[in-house]
Amino acid sequence: MKTLEAVVPVYNEEAILPELNRRLVDALGRLPYEWRIIYVDDGSRDRTPDLLADFAAADSRVAVVHLSRNFGQQLAISAGLAATSADAVVLLDGDLQDPPEVVPLLVEKWEDGYDVVYALKRERKEAWPKRVLFNLFYRVLRRLSSVDIPADAGNFSLMDRSVVDMVNKMPERDRYVSGLRAYVGGRQTGVEFERAARYAGQPRQSPLKLMRMATDALFAFSELPLRLATFMGFLVSGVAFLVLVSVLYQKLVSGAAILGWASTMTSILFLGGIQLIAVGVIGEYIGRIYNEAKGRPAWVVGRYRNLSGAATDAARPLHDERDSV
Ligand code: UDP
Ligand code: MG
Repeated sequence: MKTLEAVVPVYNEEAILPELNRRLVDALGRLPYEWRIIYVDDGSRDRTPDLLADFAAADSRVAVVHLSRNFGQQLAISAGLAATSADAVVLLDGDLQDPPEVVPLLVEKWEDGYDVVYALKRERKEAWPKRVLFNLFYRVLRRLSSVDIPADAGNFSLMDRSVVDMVNKMPERDRYVSGLRAYVGGRQTGVEFERAARYAGQPRQSPLKLMRMATDALFAFSELPLRLATFMGFLVSGVAFLVLVSVLYQKLVSGAAILGWASTMTSILFLGGIQLIAVGVIGEYIGRIYNEAKGRPAWVVGRYRNLSGAATDAARPLHDERDSV
């Protein structure tokens, strides 16, 4: 029998977990596969770890990766993917915005032979400023990136084992999983779905965390910002050349007086601004290179539940299953 795993990152989701687990178990139970749920507890501070421990104790098909602290959504997802071993892996958010009932639609396409099936949000349920920013982000990313990253495809997706293996093999620490998934290529397709509103509570992805993810994505999947600095350099040099020609003309031909202070200040400030931007862009890449060069593990696992054998080789936990955490 084919196997299917669901990876769900959760951070302080005690209000949602019981409902989520019930609906997810129900949806997976309807499919003709052997299944397992892998929750990744991203260093939650509420009762999330206890609830997950209870689920895991009650059902051996529910596994948990407890990270040693909060590493952020993308690394939590990566930690979950590293612990998988099934023929297909479904990725979904833990706030029920990605309805478990959509999973059969993704599976259907996988059975048709697709390697990646991503769920496309037909309509966002967020407030409009966030919606506008998300749309802008996806569009800019698509424009800038040499990889074909589909707009409106977030985490919610199904990946074939071969794709998950590839993603797991990518060693980078700044991980934007939707980008890595697109990078692999192969047969990819989308299925539209109606995105639900968050089941309870406020988003756990703070605006700061979202910003961080957006810059990670842009800088990890595009060299265009770097080139932009070069383009700006050419542009400014071109303008400077024109100014030089006009000054020479005034001096030698028309003999007009020297221009004033304002134009000098403006060009100094303009040039200073451009240089700062260019240095900032370069700094952004150097920071990332430094981060990679340090070679630290991208995440640390505190302990696993119901994950033994091959899966736990992915990363050694700080504590083993006998510990009471
Ligand atoms: N999440 C996480 N670590 C974090 C922040 C969020 O694992 O540091 C999880 C969160 O519990 C949820 C999923 O990521 O299951 C999506 O987060 P959220 O709904 O807050 O973000 P949205 O993408 O809806 O803004
Ligand atoms: Mg959400």
